[in-house]
Amino acid sequence: MKKTALMMVLVAAGMAHADEPLRLDTHLDTPIHFGRAGWDIMTRHSYHDDMSQVDYPRMVEGGLDGGFFVLYTPQGPLTAQGYASARDWAVMRSVHIHEMVAAHPDRFELAFKADDAARIKAAGKRVVFQSIENSYPLGTDLSMLETFRRLGVRMAGPVHFLNNQFADSATDKPHFHGFSPLGKQWVAEMNRLGLIIDGSHSSDDVFDQMLALSKAPIILSHSGCKAVYDHPRNLDDARIKKLAEKGGVIQINSVYLIKREDNAAMSAVDDRLEVVDQLTADEQARLIADYQAAAAGDHRPRANFDMFMQNLLHALQIAGADHVGIGADWDGGGGVTGMEDVADLPKVTAALKQAGYSDTDVAKIWSGNVLRVMREVEAVAASGH
Ligand SMILES: [Zn+2]
Repeated sequence: MKKTALMMVLVAAGMAHADEPLRLDTHLDTPIHFGRAGWDIMTRHSYHDDMSQVDYPRMVEGGLDGGFFVLYTPQGPLTAQGYASARDWAVMRSVHIHEMVAAHPDRFELAFKADDAARIKAAGKRVVFQSIENSYPLGTDLSMLETFRRLGVRMAGPVHFLNNQFADSATDKPHFHGFSPLGKQWVAEMNRLGLIIDGSHSSDDVFDQMLALSKAPIILSHSGCKAVYDHPRNLDDARIKKLAEKGGVIQINSVYLIKREDNAAMSAVDDRLEVVDQLTADEQARLIADYQAAAAGDHRPRANFDMFMQNLLHALQIAGADHVGIGADWDGGGGVTGMEDVADLPKVTAALKQAGYSDTDVAKIWSGNVLRVMREVEAVAASGH
């Protein structure tokens, strides 16, 4: 069948829209729900009822074709035992992703290279790339990167909220003032294996060293602009410009848009959500009830959709439409008033068009830029030096 004929059949079946761009989000924490008792990705959920933001019905509704599904590991002790249990945790996250896709082979497909994304969309399925948030599970054995690559991982960041064996975190006190010696080897190994280097959560010193050391462009999978809100997780304009000059891309986050004091009840609930796949049905019900009570008593100001767009439009102004994308941290703390889950994503496209961005620009922002970076990363690895 000719490609155009195939597309017409798919459009008729409601499986694809020929004129719609491919839309990927580069940081989906949704795998925290995959092993959760009673949770089905094919059912439409709501954050209020079960604290999830991404499922198949909402992806269809929001026109989200897929993205990078995250193997997130909380930072633990830098000991042999800590490394071993983190490794097991991260492997299980990948297993859960494989199991989810295997259970729905007509709806989802694992993606391993940039060209897979358009092919999977054209076949009427959602695109499942895998990425690592926090390289702590590698321990001190960089050959583990090869193991995770074989599991399908194609992107990784060195660090999360706390410093680790590889690098300083944006939200911890400087220890190495950049990468550790092992962290510099991590960069070389990432380039050699064709894995995208993710600078989100890294300190500014680590970011600068990534740009200097990496032979391929890098990504910030879920970050924002300091000019919009001054937070260590956001980048200043000079660094965003340097990222663009080196061919990289910043994927705009929906977190860190506004100052928020800590709220103990909400933090406690969020901590329990991180291990929701280990809770029984009763424990989950208690978690949701506690969340609803904590949310009802949470009167802190909350970021809204306009603030998210301000962040996105500022990055576009600084870096240009070839170097910005979207990674809103769904199921990892993302979501703002007016954009609560992925069903609301058409608002982003509408706001970009209203701001004067062309269909070509919008297509680059929704996936073209990150896939270009991925192709360059693949080419650097293929060149073998
Ligand atoms: Zn994160």
